[in-house]
Amino acid sequence: MAMSYECARELILDRADLLQSESVELIDLAGRVLAEEITSPCELPRWDNSAMDGFAVCQADNQVGAQLKITGYIPAGAVAGDLKVVPGCAIKIMTGAPTPQGCQAIIPIEETENNAETVTITRPFNIGDHVRVRGEDIPKDKVILTTGTVLRPAAINLLASLGFTTVKVFKRPTVAILSTGDELVEPGETVGDGQIINSNAYSIAAAVKEAGGEPILLGTARDNRESLQEKLNEGLKAQILITSAGVSMGDRDLVCEMLQEAGVEQLFWKIDIKPGRPTAFSVKGEKLIFSLPGNPVSTMVTFEEFVRPALLKMQGHPHPIKETTTATLTETAKKKVGRVQFLRVYVSNGENGLIATSSGDQNTGILSTMLRANAIAILPADRGQVEAGELVKIQMI
Ligand code: AMP
Ligand code: MG
Repeated sequence: MAMSYECARELILDRADLLQSESVELIDLAGRVLAEEITSPCELPRWDNSAMDGFAVCQADNQVGAQLKITGYIPAGAVAGDLKVVPGCAIKIMTGAPTPQGCQAIIPIEETENNAETVTITRPFNIGDHVRVRGEDIPKDKVILTTGTVLRPAAINLLASLGFTTVKVFKRPTVAILSTGDELVEPGETVGDGQIINSNAYSIAAAVKEAGGEPILLGTARDNRESLQEKLNEGLKAQILITSAGVSMGDRDLVCEMLQEAGVEQLFWKIDIKPGRPTAFSVKGEKLIFSLPGNPVSTMVTFEEFVRPALLKMQGHPHPIKETTTATLTETAKKKVGRVQFLRVYVSNGENGLIATSSGDQNTGILSTMLRANAIAILPADRGQVEAGELVKIQMI
């Protein structure tokens, strides 16, 4: 009995346990998930400062035509010291520099007439203009980032601004990748009759990296018990093992059998989906084993649907399953009732919202339509043929 798409995902996510945390430096934080709560140790900005290159002035001189004497200069990196703005005087100041005592506004250079000694106000200003006030961005002792935050550039900037050099994030899973097949040679090797290049190892490794995992390439196991046994045991040292091919009905499709000999517990084999039906999922303690079909398109689609969410969940992502949206299908899609069908589509803006156009031949052997696709349309199991003009669920890739 094949698993339903939904049950397969649920079962996998249920087994994907949160990894431990580790301290990581700022430079390596991109995309990592915070494993601690961050409280601001100080306020930002740390002191009142100028938002423009200009002149610090006081309200008493808020008159068009007032000519003020320039009595000081504060470049970025300098301190205001004893400098003070008094009526009839202005202090030249650069962006980011601390404002001097008595400063009630900054007049940008371009809004004045000025020479080395004097500056003339050419339009009225408001108190507080172009002054960044201490603490206006981030107050002290406030929770600013919570556990589970995915660290994007803005969060990393904030951490750096507050003086953090490392923070705790969830560890990345190690992911062993094993190709299987007597027909496989490596890229760069001579391709003999009947042989094909082991391309899956590289698309899987790329997808693992994109999902934050650390890929370990195990090379290829041949379609015999000895070779599979040796390589599978090696792969089971990693936290996750992904195999490709050898899971169909062929008499050399030994992956599931040999995994069971290696002591794993198979939770399912076959999902009601197309492409990707022969996908199997097993566990050994906390280790997860994904046996993906060998056709490169099936391998990529099943990775996207089943492996990626598990990798993200283990790393603490709050939403491991990709958001879906809807688009109008532009042409009829044939399908059988009883299985979810993944359609490779190109999604673009139509007159009334998003439209999804098939990226071409949907045969699992056709890689180029995967290349041209920017989304996968997910056609539900309970439907037969889906007509042009119908709204379908899509997942951007
Ligand atoms: P199998 O499930 O072993 O029958 O493989 C299904 C299809 O995927 C066959 O056409 C294989 O040649 C192809 N295939 C298997 N492994 C790989 C791989 N590592 N890279 C590219 N194609 C593969
Ligand atoms: Mg094979």
